[in-house]
Amino acid sequence: MNSDTPARWLEKIRALPLPARVRIMNVCGGHERSITMAGLRSALPENIELIPGPGCPVCICPEEDVFEAIQLALNEDIILVAFGDMLRVPVNAPRKAARSLEQARAMGADVRPIASPLEAAHIARNNPGKPVIFFAAGFETTTAPVAALLVEGVPDNLFVLLSGRLTWPAVAMLLASDVPGFDALVAPGHVSTIMGPEEWEFVVQKHGIPAAVAGFTAESLLAAMYSTLRQLLEDQRFLDNCYPELVRPGGNRRARQQLEQAMDVTDANWRGVGIIPASGFAINQQYRAHDARQAFPSYADDARKRAGEMPPGCDCASVVLGKIYPNECRLFGAACKPRHPIGPCMVSDEGACRIWWSAGMREPVLKAERPQASA
Ligand code: SF4
Repeated sequence: MNSDTPARWLEKIRALPLPARVRIMNVCGGHERSITMAGLRSALPENIELIPGPGCPVCICPEEDVFEAIQLALNEDIILVAFGDMLRVPVNAPRKAARSLEQARAMGADVRPIASPLEAAHIARNNPGKPVIFFAAGFETTTAPVAALLVEGVPDNLFVLLSGRLTWPAVAMLLASDVPGFDALVAPGHVSTIMGPEEWEFVVQKHGIPAAVAGFTAESLLAAMYSTLRQLLEDQRFLDNCYPELVRPGGNRRARQQLEQAMDVTDANWRGVGIIPASGFAINQQYRAHDARQAFPSYADDARKRAGEMPPGCDCASVVLGKIYPNECRLFGAACKPRHPIGPCMVSDEGACRIWWSAGMREPVLKAERPQASA
């Protein structure tokens, strides 16, 4: 089905008798990057709005978890490893204190960027005399390899500070609200590869919203958009799979088994959003010896000014929930740019603000200019 070229998919979409306005949400930073870099927003008819939703794990990682990682790195005799884009995420701290892992490193902490969980194990094996804490923030696609690491055996000196999240509960929360803000969903390809496309059936069955799983090429994304548009127009609803090359029924069974074996699912905090039920992973009792939250002191300091909050003026929470576009934030491109990010959405490669800025979508938009949401 996806064998058509992007140009052909665009032709097919333009030929549809579209309503005055259709809002299609994606919930994957990789999708948002592909959509933006391919210029799909300007190529599609004007009445189709592509809304970036909750697809960036760095953006929603709780401020207090980043603060904890910074304090562990500064106060414990450890090596702290984290994916590169976590290092620049800012927290709320006094001006002279470390406000990011990068700043903690500049103050002498041993903080190292890594590209995969295996690298964390490698660093632990090469430093047997020192505890290594892996600050693992991510969605299912990141948490599954962490679970695999635990189940398959890790060095005694490797500990995990986990900030893992499930994506679908955030979409469920949006759909349960009075203003979900979208009419159709492009479901995430990577997450579906691990967890199975079935996780997204509730969107169709419970809420009557068309949905299609997409891969990361323009043709796969356009195929998924076309599918959801046809579902809307023909008043049919089903979960389409436009990424059959990798997304199979049931997902990756071994990865799911390892997640089940090593993790509990818990209510979890999303930065700027609040607690979302059953949206977090926590290392379970069996693997608690490698849980940094059990093995090291807590440095939580709820008395900090703006503890847990977004930086002043940052609208990341609204961006993450698809309530505003990145360039509707008044700091976008003014005080907040990739070299001097104010909020996490401008830090991470999966953050919508950074993606839009990198793609040259830099004109600020006044809220009043955005078309009003339909009922
Ligand atoms: S532009 Fe910067 S301050 Fe505004 S929402 Fe994005 S990250 Fe936050």
